[in-house]
Amino acid sequence: ADELLRVRGLEVHFPVRGRGVLRRPAGAVRAVDGVDLDVRRGETLGLVGESGCGKSTLGQAVLRLVEPTAGRVVLDGTDVTALGQRDLRALRRRVAMVFQDPYASLDPRRTVGQAVSEPLEVHGLHRADRRGRVGELLELVGLDPDWRERHPHELSGGQRQRVGIARALAGEPDFIVLDEPVASLDVSIQAQVLNLLRRLQRELGLTYLFIAHDLAAVAHVSDRVAVMYLGRVVEVAARADLEAEPAHPYARALLSAVPVPDPRRERARRRVVLRGDVPSPTAPPSGCRFRTRCPDAFEPCPLVDPALQGVGAGTGHVAACHLHGVVGRPVEPGAGGG
Ligand code: SF4
Ligand code: MG
Repeated sequence: ADELLRVRGLEVHFPVRGRGVLRRPAGAVRAVDGVDLDVRRGETLGLVGESGCGKSTLGQAVLRLVEPTAGRVVLDGTDVTALGQRDLRALRRRVAMVFQDPYASLDPRRTVGQAVSEPLEVHGLHRADRRGRVGELLELVGLDPDWRERHPHELSGGQRQRVGIARALAGEPDFIVLDEPVASLDVSIQAQVLNLLRRLQRELGLTYLFIAHDLAAVAHVSDRVAVMYLGRVVEVAARADLEAEPAHPYARALLSAVPVPDPRRERARRRVVLRGDVPSPTAPPSGCRFRTRCPDAFEPCPLVDPALQGVGAGTGHVAACHLHGVVGRPVEPGAGGG
């Protein structure tokens, strides 16, 4: 398939300051810790995991809104990780991000028109052309162009998120990271915003990385789904394949928490309840980092860090779990926590 985005070995580590006068670095939060991921042109890839698993940081690192510590991000043939500041500005036209909280992401003092005009200015559009373009963008997201004089407090949550989407579209991007774009909206409004995002994808040929904290949130919008746990992608599959046959115990647990409309299917599906808490991302467990909560853990799990490997019949379904064959990197003596 044709990949628009290719992520290899991506790491984003944040140093943690120690106590004491010298405040020496006491380690690092390994928010993203060795991620491989592809996003295909024109698809929506759902990226799912519990809060703190690194999914937002991954989305931001792909756009260089946070700096990767290691690894490569290649967008449409361009190595994003190698770009200098000038080329980064050019990149920012082709990629964009929609944030979870439309209340926090809009400046309350600026009008809708100013909010949408700002990225146009950054992208170098001449002042005389900006007003017309703001009107077009507002129409594109289903808002009345006359609303350019309104302030965020005069808008509903859904309308604010439409402004956020208009801002994201300003540079005519082909790739957008949607970070829980409807999670803070009323349920009745969520479908409207999701429909808008789908229509825009169709009309503008957009590719989405759609971040969410549970599978239900991405079920109706994703072509494929990637599951993330403690800084790693642990499974990637076509949405239907993941729903029918999740291969990683963590994906199974997430899926078993999603209510299904048919009670017969509900009974057939074993409810998996995870024990314990997510370990600290400063010291992930050795070997498989899910092993401290995994109901299926066995001998190799603390000893070998499982690699993503094919689990279906050539469908591109991959998972990082020894239940599907012990493949991965042996733990170095003394490495890893837990
Ligand atoms: Fe569970 Fe082991 Fe698979 Fe990790 S590798 S998910 S601990 S069975
Ligand atoms: Mg987040």
